[in-house]
Amino acid sequence: MTTALPATEALMWITSRPDLHFVEGRGDWLTDHQGKRYLDFVQGWAVNCLGHCPPQIQQALAQQSAKLINPSPAFFNEPSAKLAKLLTDHSCFDRVFFASTGAEANEGAIKLARKWGRKFREGAFEIITFENSFHGRTIATMSASGKPGWDKLFAPQVPGFPKARLNDLESVEALITPQTAAVMLEPVQGEGGVIPANPAFLQALRRLTQETGVLLIVDEVQTGVGRCGTLFAHELAGITPDIMTLGKGIGGGVPLAALLATEAVCCFEAGDQGGTYNGNPLMTAVGLAVLETVVAPGFLDRVKANGDYLSAGLQQLAEETGHEGERGNGLLRAFILADERGPALVEAARNLAPEGLLLNAPRPNLIRFMPALNVNRDHIDQMLEMLRQLLH
Ligand code: PLP
Repeated sequence: MTTALPATEALMWITSRPDLHFVEGRGDWLTDHQGKRYLDFVQGWAVNCLGHCPPQIQQALAQQSAKLINPSPAFFNEPSAKLAKLLTDHSCFDRVFFASTGAEANEGAIKLARKWGRKFREGAFEIITFENSFHGRTIATMSASGKPGWDKLFAPQVPGFPKARLNDLESVEALITPQTAAVMLEPVQGEGGVIPANPAFLQALRRLTQETGVLLIVDEVQTGVGRCGTLFAHELAGITPDIMTLGKGIGGGVPLAALLATEAVCCFEAGDQGGTYNGNPLMTAVGLAVLETVVAPGFLDRVKANGDYLSAGLQQLAEETGHEGERGNGLLRAFILADERGPALVEAARNLAPEGLLLNAPRPNLIRFMPALNVNRDHIDQMLEMLRQLLH
């Protein structure tokens, strides 16, 4: 099967892309315009948490699109109310605001913390974030991010995001002032290289933020909705944050994100927050189908077991091939190379024949794995075998 390629010049250039078009996806596999299949361990950067085109999402989209797509966020609708209830029932949070992207949910978290600081902490507005963190690509979330070079790109930045070092409590303590409204972090820095915040650090950070009277915000856009083997990654440290953001997995591939907060923090007034698409029934019906699947008995146990299985396989491969090792939580993992051939490996994996392999290298010395949460164990074996072939 070969499909004629459409011209692409009309698309705005934002990055180099390989000369292939994907035409179909099923579970762990993608098929390109020439009929070549690729085992997908990126899954749209961890968005397709149930794999490509899962039946639950097909059904939710078909049924909801035939019923009601968007009555406007000025009115309640059933799927968004049900999804909010399911999220609050399964978390320490009381209220949810739905958005379309992770960056938009984080913008909401930043606004909520600033509003709270203005109302309850004498105008405090600073949010301490972390070196090498990633919170999105809007101007405010780029300013919040600690990605090297982003402080100059699109300058001037939005002020008020001093940077601490992950797993270094003293570096946070040193930045807390009367101007501080919140501390915001990813439980595992994803784009930064799959670097987990230590449970002891998260627990100490929770104590510190409580003692100093500032909010703790967790950005779980990448780590949430089962990715790390628990429904939310902060549960691994047994902490209860004040605010959490979700994206990626919550929509299973469609644009859906969420801002969650405890009742004490919910201080938006009319007009402070909104958006044309927030909580639309089409996307929240998908979110509901995804979350019902992820919280069903046994699902998260299988994520954890498959995460351990992938971890053991990667560890063995590292020992066999002389590479550094692996790290991560659940099904968000990284293979640490002894050299900087990450981008070349990603390309070589894609070019494998007859079947290719999709991987991602957020750092030159690192390969990241974000398979579907329901990835087939045979496909983990197949991926490890393909990687073995490339590393020998
Ligand atoms: N926050 C984290 C931790 C992320 O990993 C990402 C995306 O990679 C974002 C925010 C931004 O999400 P989106 O691309 O949906 O705006």
